[in-house]
Amino acid sequence: MKGVAQPPILNPYITRKKRRAYSVAEYVEGILRGDMVLLSRAVTLIESTNPDHYAQAQQVIEKCLPYASKSIRLGITGVPGAGKSSLIEKIGLHITGQNRKLAVLAIDPSSERTKGSILGDKTRMEMLSRSENAFIRPSPSAGSLGGVARKTRETIVLCEAAGFDTIIVETVGVGQSETAVHSMVDFFLLLQLAGTGDELQGMKRGIMEMADGIAINKSDGENMNRAQAARVMFQNALRLFPAPESGFLPEVLNCSATENTGIAEIWEMIMRYTEFTRQNGFFEKNRSAQANYLMYSTIDEKLYNQFYQNEQVQILLKQYEERIKNHQISSFVAAQEVLQFYFKG
Ligand code: GDP
Repeated sequence: MKGVAQPPILNPYITRKKRRAYSVAEYVEGILRGDMVLLSRAVTLIESTNPDHYAQAQQVIEKCLPYASKSIRLGITGVPGAGKSSLIEKIGLHITGQNRKLAVLAIDPSSERTKGSILGDKTRMEMLSRSENAFIRPSPSAGSLGGVARKTRETIVLCEAAGFDTIIVETVGVGQSETAVHSMVDFFLLLQLAGTGDELQGMKRGIMEMADGIAINKSDGENMNRAQAARVMFQNALRLFPAPESGFLPEVLNCSATENTGIAEIWEMIMRYTEFTRQNGFFEKNRSAQANYLMYSTIDEKLYNQFYQNEQVQILLKQYEERIKNHQISSFVAAQEVLQFYFKG
């Protein structure tokens, strides 16, 4: 397909069929039937830079929307090496073992550089990727964080329409991508490591505040004592934070992805959270707020792109840069004049 790099196929249940163009109706029918090949092809349309693909993808998404939203959406973050893939593999097997269908997506705006390293490595999540109840998709590699996040959000719609009742969105613990993931999930899990002694200092407070739960991974072997001490420390630190809007006090758990311990407990915590927030109304309220946020952020992104891609604006900006350099005009007046030109022209 022109305009998009083909991601590797991780799941053996997805075999590449001979390519032919499908109609919107065929995509929708296939997705609603739970056909993983058509789902995968439709996600490729979403990720394509070809405007025709994009337009077709929008029609597919629109038709799938009424069938979406009946799922639990989880976000998982943690620094590289924290054990996110290892944990997702284990919790994923636990989830699919409960007759649930799991889609694992990722947001990694830096993956253009690393060629989609997050989830992209075939050796990661090997067992999970062989499950017929799992759909694993690497991060879309092209574009700004806003663009990548939108594509992931749209992919969630298609996965849910295809019958996936559990969605995990993985992100690396750097930069703004946590905020993007937080804005599209019901439960946000922060994966932490113990042992360095300065966990809290190195921790971005904002991410701690976003977390609905914290898991201290690698709570095994010689690391066990430090991991348990870290759990108490995080639990105490969380008490100093303002009460979360969900009304659910974040819990801190120990786990080991390699030893498969604490995994069921993480899932139980997530179940407790969803039960609690469904009852107090926060679950629905949060989803509506997220849908509004998505509308505004899409408008922001579109306005931004159209403005900066406008050729006349580009020429004008260069001229104003020159005038600013020569102290002929203030930055503020320059900005106002360029905006005026754009919105009146
Ligand atoms: P990610 O970058 O956050 O996705 O981390 P990975 O899942 O790739 O794990 C990074 C490294 O930590 C790998 O070598 C894993 O084998 C190791 N690892 C992951 N989970 C655990 C754990 O629970 N205990 C121990 N001891 N090692 C782990």
